[in-house]
Amino acid sequence: MRIYNTLTRRKEEFVPITPGKVGIYVCGPTVYDFIHIGNARPQIIFDTLRRYLEYKGYEVNFVSNFTDVDDKIIKRANEDKVDASVISERFIDECKKDMAALNVREATIHPQATKEIPDMIELVQTLIDKGHAYEKNGTVYFRTRSFKDYGKLSHKNIDELESGHRAEAHALKVSGEDEKEDPLDFVLWKPKKEGEPSWKSPWSEGRPGWHLECSCMSKKYIGGTIDIHAGGEDLIFPHHENEIAQSEAANGTEFAHYWMHNGFLKINGDKMSKSLGNFFTVRDICKQCDPQVFRFFMLSAQYRTPLNFSKELVEDAAKGLERILNGAEKLSGIIAKDNKKPVSDKEKELLETELPKYVEKFDNAMDDDLNTADAVSTIFELIRFTNANTDENSSSDFAKALYDTLFKLCDTVLGIHIERKEEKMDDDFVAEIEKLIADRTTAKKEKNFALADEIRAKLLDMGIVIEDTREGVKWKKA
Ligand code: AMP
Ligand code: ZN
Repeated sequence: MRIYNTLTRRKEEFVPITPGKVGIYVCGPTVYDFIHIGNARPQIIFDTLRRYLEYKGYEVNFVSNFTDVDDKIIKRANEDKVDASVISERFIDECKKDMAALNVREATIHPQATKEIPDMIELVQTLIDKGHAYEKNGTVYFRTRSFKDYGKLSHKNIDELESGHRAEAHALKVSGEDEKEDPLDFVLWKPKKEGEPSWKSPWSEGRPGWHLECSCMSKKYIGGTIDIHAGGEDLIFPHHENEIAQSEAANGTEFAHYWMHNGFLKINGDKMSKSLGNFFTVRDICKQCDPQVFRFFMLSAQYRTPLNFSKELVEDAAKGLERILNGAEKLSGIIAKDNKKPVSDKEKELLETELPKYVEKFDNAMDDDLNTADAVSTIFELIRFTNANTDENSSSDFAKALYDTLFKLCDTVLGIHIERKEEKMDDDFVAEIEKLIADRTTAKKEKNFALADEIRAKLLDMGIVIEDTREGVKWKKA
């Protein structure tokens, strides 16, 4: 598989540190509110990466954190007059519900910053001991210039950064960080302010800087060098650049071999974000459309390209997914007949020579820097192939072989269920349907066929078709 590495700015062949195993660290959300659909992009994309690597036979250790101590969480907790942990625990739970709806599998582990404070303090101490960090009045700063590779991920030149920062000298005074040795230095530990969660440390009672948690937790749960580090492209600088500085300065080894960054989900061409207020939560979207449709929409673009969100594009995704579900349903119908027919010579040939071509094409797309857009197109081609080559005379075993391949690519790897979910209908709606059916039966008994037809038409308007059978009236969604 080839992966575009932000570090080298080119696609590189993926070679894991340990053959057969992959360690992936994905920066997770800050939990102060429901996640928005932009936050769902890295979750869906890197979940698909994990699934694909597993399909290729790797054992994947997938670590994704929750940032549960942060200014925004503290602000919300103070507004709601509750402890910060009440806010973070609530939104971790809500985030997990959203992820489950989008069929994003739970990580191997979801570490939380507040549960790893002793390790973070140890990392800060190591950096101080090695001369890469210093303390001033209870705040600990990373000495950025002491790390010679600073800027290697974001491809920024340290001197240009310096002049940018000099212009911000006033801002530094305002933020109380004017005691830094150098404006480029960033915070590793800061003393608490009134009303903030805090922990004891050798420097002050306070809390860790944001970047620290990922350096710490990736090492603890994966190792000093990890295979793949991932997140949204906004994290390249300063978050990931600072993680590299902290980790490599402390450990003396390369932090991560491959850096993958997803492009942004946009809305009307603008970045979707909480601060701009132009966002939809995953929870809202899942009320408006099947979460599977939303996942399918996300996978319809290669992850590095910006993706514009619009109702029309989601509707297109819904139509596309419908074609796949119909194709799968056709195969299921033939399988269900269990007709015990032997696989014909023609079918055997299709399975041996044609079907593998679709699998190969799918794999090639995914091997090319996780090109899910092309992989999805291949699924459509596969559906055209299964539709064209199956009918009521097909053997059930042939249909089963086709179905299994479709399942593996679409359901297992892309995380898109190919079986139509029985939609749970609202109880009141079901009661209304049953009442109308009973009224119609009565009308028929009384030979009031005009009324019976009227009721049938009304049901159809409600999206319900009925069928008179020997066992009584049966109904289903149109
Ligand atoms: P945050 O909670 O802001 O730290 O974001 C969590 C993850 O979502 C990070 O990997 C961000 O890069 C990513 N992210 C935030 N907004 C968007 C967006 N509009 N499109 C894609 N990814 C995003
Ligand atoms: Zn991170």
